[in-house]
Formats: sequence, C-alpha cells, structure tokens
Amino acid sequence: MTLSVTVLGATGSIGVSTLDVLARHPERYRVFAITAARNTARLIEQILMFSPRFAVLIDEAGAAEVRAGLPADHPTQILVGEQALVEVAEHPDVDVVMAAIVGAAGLLPTLAAARSGKRVLLANKESLVMAGPLFMQSVRDGGATLLPIDSEHNAIFQSLPANYAGNFADSGVRHLLLTASGGPFRGWPAEKLQAVTPAQAVAHPNWAMGRKISVDSATLMNKGLELIEACFLFNCVPDQVKVVVHPQSVIHSLVQYRDGSVVAELGQPDMRTPIACGLSWPERIEAGVADLDLFSVATLNFEPADEQTFPCLALARQAFVAGGTMPAVLNAANEIAVEAFLAEQIAFTAISEVVAATMQQHEPRTADSLDAILQADREARVIARTLVAERSTIKES
Ligand code: NAD
Ligand code: MG
Repeated sequence: MTLSVTVLGATGSIGVSTLDVLARHPERYRVFAITAARNTARLIEQILMFSPRFAVLIDEAGAAEVRAGLPADHPTQILVGEQALVEVAEHPDVDVVMAAIVGAAGLLPTLAAARSGKRVLLANKESLVMAGPLFMQSVRDGGATLLPIDSEHNAIFQSLPANYAGNFADSGVRHLLLTASGGPFRGWPAEKLQAVTPAQAVAHPNWAMGRKISVDSATLMNKGLELIEACFLFNCVPDQVKVVVHPQSVIHSLVQYRDGSVVAELGQPDMRTPIACGLSWPERIEAGVADLDLFSVATLNFEPADEQTFPCLALARQAFVAGGTMPAVLNAANEIAVEAFLAEQIAFTAISEVVAATMQQHEPRTADSLDAILQADREARVIARTLVAERSTIKES
C-alpha cells in the first residue's frame, strides 16, 4: 500500500530532507500536499518534481508567484492561508503528516493532524512546547501515532521499550540523557557573547538547520525547548532529564535503566535518519545516510552545560515547572527575541533577558484550551516586543 504524505514546511531544512527520503521510495510514499511561506522558487521545483494534489502558500502574493511559475495545465491545486494548512493536514486521504513548519505557526495544522488520527512526524517542537497537555490529549483522542523527529527524542524513542506506555517505573527507566552539541559558542565566556553576529550564531558546528533553530542552539534555548518536549512526549519531569553536552553529536540521546543499562542511538548528524525512522517505523528504509565510521569519530566527549552563561536552558525548566500557559509564553517571547536578534535589532545576550522578563510579567493560567494558549502567546508577544524596543541597539533617527 502506498502511503499518502503531507509535508508542512516543505521548503525548509527538515522539509527538503523529508522529500529527499520520500523520493527514494516512490513505491511506498506519494506526496499529497506540500506547504511553504516564502520560498516560492523552491516550492515550484518541488511541485514539478512530485506533482502533489495540493500546494499551500500563506498569502496570495506567494500563490500568484507559484501559479506563474507552473505550466497552465499543471494538475497541482494551489491553496492559500492557515485554514488550507489545516485542511491538507487533516484530509481523509492523508496517512502521514510531517510537521516541519517552524515556530507557533505550526500549531494549528499539527494539532489538526493529531486530532484526525494521522501518523504525525513531529519536527515542530514549538507546537508541543506551547500546547503539551492539549496536544498529547489530541493524539490520544484522535488515535494518532506520534513519532518524534527531533534527533534527541527520536533517539530516546528508539531506546525506550517498544511498548513504553508513559511510565518510567513500569519500564525500569531511571532517567533520560538528552545530548546537546553546545552550539557554536560552547566554552565562550559571557563577555564575548555580547557582540556575536547573526552569521556567527547560525553557523552550527554539526547540523545544517533553519535560522531560528540555529540561534536556539547557540543560546541553548533549543535544549530548553527539547527538555520540555521530552517531558510531554515521555511523560516525565525535568529532574528526570539530564542534559549532557556532547560536541560530536554522534550519540543522539540515551536512556538510563534501573539495572545499570544505558541504551542509546548513534549515527551521523543527518536528519534523514530520524525522518526515515519516523516514516517507516517499525520497519527500516534506506535514508541516503552513510554508515557511521567509529574509527573516524575516534573520540566522544561529554561535559555539563554552562547554565550561567546560557540562561535559556534554566528558563525553560522554570517554564515547565510553572506549567499552564508559561511554556507558551517562553516560546512566544523567544520567537520575538530571536527575530529581533536576526534583524540585528538586539544583542545576542538580550535574547535570554527578553524571555526572562516576559516570563516575569506573566501570571501562568491553565492551558486547557487552544484559546487560552493562543491568548497567552499573543500577550507574550506584545510584552516581548516592548522589551525588545527597550533594548534595541538601532538608534532612532
Ligand atoms: P526552516 O526555517 O528551514 O523551514 C521552516 C519551514 O516553515 C519553511 O518551509 C517555511 O516556508 C515554513 N514557514 C515559516 N514560517 C511559516 C508560517 N508563518 N506559516 C507557514 N509556514 C511557515 O526550519 P527547519 O530548520 O526546517 O525547522 C523546522 C522545524 O523543525 C522547527 O520547529 C525546528 O525546531 C524543527 N527541527 C529542525 C531540525 C533541523 O535539523 N533543521 C532538527 C530538529 C527539529
Ligand atoms: Mg534536536
């Protein structure tokens, strides 16, 4: 049987890797829909290559560009807007949804995929951070199969027992070990971070990724978001997730068991591995990834994270413990701060300041409805924008 796949965020780093894996297995997978925000040239190439039933853009300008770039009789239907993203995620003809939109923009379609019982390949960690309990409940209610694509969580998923039912004690699990590369500024003193540029921050040592997650890796907010992601996915608390800086990114994360066993997944730092794993689980398919050569790796190093110099990890832990709407607030403030840093409006070190100050101004409320979460997200963005303006290094003329 051929599975029908929607790729949300097809033009991004994860989207392109997903289509690369899908193209290797035309007998197993058919591309049903692809979506993009701005990179219309790449989307046109993808439409010509895969002839999906639908392609979705977020605005009319993008859709017009794509229509103009296709032959008049091309069969792919071009749709526009947030509701169209939801439609291609929950369409009855879809079996698998790759959730690879970046940020809060991915929440609605990813949630729709969960509610409609798809196999959900979750790269968009922000949606789980924002709406963890609601999202996990939607997965259960919809009968969806949730497979983590974030390399660490995919490694933990592979290292847990196949019948893991959300309870550490029942499975003999003591704790999780979440590995972190440490990002491009690992080992740097705090003073030096003040002046780092966006170009330096997005130059990740091991992984080629989108700009937002690359900055998150540099601030360690990515590890903070992943800590929250792990707590929701595997039903545990931050004390049960130990962060280990491992600069080679060969071990993608580990599970410590009661009997002393530690089970890990290792491999090349190539996202096609977790993507292929999620697509074909429990089978294994070719991903185009070279075998791991341990002799060329030779050495594996481990060190603790420097939470003083990189405060975002501790902020994320605090947000999870505060609970309710606080993780959504952490995420929203971070999105605003990262955007401002990438626009060279604030210093790198102001990112964690903006997140911390936004959290301080928020009284967490219950996050049991989508409205409550979206409301907190909007409020946090307003606060964070004010804090960004206060710290702006761009002089008013
Ligand atoms: P990216 O910036 O390369 O791609 C993002 C995609 O989302 C693009 O297709 C873009 O057009 C689309 N998009 C952006 N804004 C949008 C909006 N407002 N509405 C609809 N679509 C929009 O990002 P990426 O690196 O591929 O990351 C995607 C997600 O996967 C993120 O949540 C990231 O944290 C997660 N992730 C990425 C990696 C990686 O190696 N790149 C690893 C683990 C997790
Ligand atoms: Mg990761």
